[in-house]
Amino acid sequence: MRRKIRPVVALDIGGTKFIAAVVGGEGQIVSRAYRQTLAHEGPKRVIARLCSAIGEVIDASGIRRSSFGGIGIAAAGLVDTARGLVTESPNLPSWNNVPLKDRLSSEFGMNSYIINDASAAALGEHAMGAGVGLSNLVFITVSTGIGGGIIIQGKLYEGTNGCAGEIGHMLIQTDGPVCSCGRRGCLEALASGTAIARMARERLAGGEKSILPAVAGRGKADLTAEMVWLAAKKGDSLACDIIDVAADYLGIGLGNLVNIFNPEMVVVGGGVSQMGEMILTPARRSMKRHAFRLPSRTVRVVRAKLRVDAGLLGAAVYARSEEGRQA
Ligand SMILES: [Zn+2]
Repeated sequence: MRRKIRPVVALDIGGTKFIAAVVGGEGQIVSRAYRQTLAHEGPKRVIARLCSAIGEVIDASGIRRSSFGGIGIAAAGLVDTARGLVTESPNLPSWNNVPLKDRLSSEFGMNSYIINDASAAALGEHAMGAGVGLSNLVFITVSTGIGGGIIIQGKLYEGTNGCAGEIGHMLIQTDGPVCSCGRRGCLEALASGTAIARMARERLAGGEKSILPAVAGRGKADLTAEMVWLAAKKGDSLACDIIDVAADYLGIGLGNLVNIFNPEMVVVGGGVSQMGEMILTPARRSMKRHAFRLPSRTVRVVRAKLRVDAGLLGAAVYARSEEGRQA
């Protein structure tokens, strides 16, 4: 008889908010809670808020603590999966080598497992999203920053320290704009939502005509990629051109990935992927120009399916696979 799959607690911790949930054996979300991360208050207070949210979702699920199969944690930033540390994170300032795994394990008396949030989203899309049943898949999330996760022969490739999949920091242009990592010309600095907004600001400052100032209203200084998208949908030529430029860079990144990994599928998630074919069609075209013919003909570049729950569900998948490995 097949062993019953136990429910797990899943956490997705971002720079501005986090989600805690109980995920049942079929991948269904039984209960969930959203909270502000308030990362500036430091790890101690954030961990206290995490614990209270976990307690709340466990109680709301009506499932006894002894029935749980562990806690899966997806965290924004670099994590040391073996030691269970958040080593550093631009989104969680002052988090240096925070032993999140041990803290949550001892608080709730169950094993916990920590993974980078984009790697978790890759696992989620592979287990129950766009890439179910595939062997080789690359997931890329394009939003404020760019992250990713790589599935090779059905398994997440974590690298030596759990740091693999930093697709956003692939170098595209050595003298390009400064990236959030401090280096220049990374994919993230050229094709992320932040990059799209920056290009729009620069070109408006250069005097180009556009409806963007009207779309942005008084918040011109806070121009976002979403506003560029809105203006492009109305046919604004500057906005359309900026999205094409970002798509072109994204395509260079995709071309590199396709040449290196020869995947069956590249799943594109994150806020910028909401633009759909407006960015994916020119990105595919650019990818084909920058990759070899056979792998670029084979690969399917599609939008993610799980949207905001990808990291959460991926954290649950990760906890289950790690728990199974140790059983
Ligand atoms: Zn970078």
